[in-house]
Amino acid sequence: MVFEPVQNGLANFSRCFVAFTTTSDQSAWAGIFSAMPELIAQTLIRDVPDFPKPGIVFKDITPVLMHPAAFEESVEALAAVARIHQPDVIIGIESRGFIFGTPIALRLGVPFAMARKLGKLPYDRISEEYALEYGTNTIEMHVDAVDPGQRAFIIDDLLATGGTAAASARLVERLNGHVAGFGFLVELGFLNGREKLLGYPVEALISY
Ligand code: AMP
Repeated sequence: MVFEPVQNGLANFSRCFVAFTTTSDQSAWAGIFSAMPELIAQTLIRDVPDFPKPGIVFKDITPVLMHPAAFEESVEALAAVARIHQPDVIIGIESRGFIFGTPIALRLGVPFAMARKLGKLPYDRISEEYALEYGTNTIEMHVDAVDPGQRAFIIDDLLATGGTAAASARLVERLNGHVAGFGFLVELGFLNGREKLLGYPVEALISY
């Protein structure tokens, strides 16, 4: 495979990508980009049937991470979305939300905080239970991850049923933060995850 230089990825970004936005009032951004062709990432994400269990089609984003121009372009696009919502802090959801969330926080010059699975965070924390497309889980944040009144923009690689994202929003709000919105590389639209995020801006670059 031939990798395009990163600069080409950025050039692509400026002329192309697809964005889907739900709610609202705060999502004027979508209109700007909605008629544009696809991200490189869209050509790379692969389906892995029956992972992690039978009947689930897993959207594997690892080829995006292995293609510097695609990775750069995806981060740039998500950072552009996040910037519009003027966050004070970026929250990355474990674990692939960390991969996209950290470079976005660096680009915006704001703190990065983690929403982690049960038992992973060392300091004082709060917990929320949530349902996955497969199974259930608990997600936690440190009590000092978000200051009262701060605007948190929540990043993950993929929106499926919306349970993980909604639990992350509850954690932010229990810390008296404000959820500025959500950013996803991929959305599985047929799972209606947005219905769990009603009232929040939801931005996804690629929708299936
Ligand atoms: P959900 O809470 O159902 O929206 O699930 C979202 C979380 O589970 C994200 O962190 C995704 O990385 C992961 N996930 C759920 N379903 C899939 C899928 N079909 N392919 C890849 N990741 C998935």
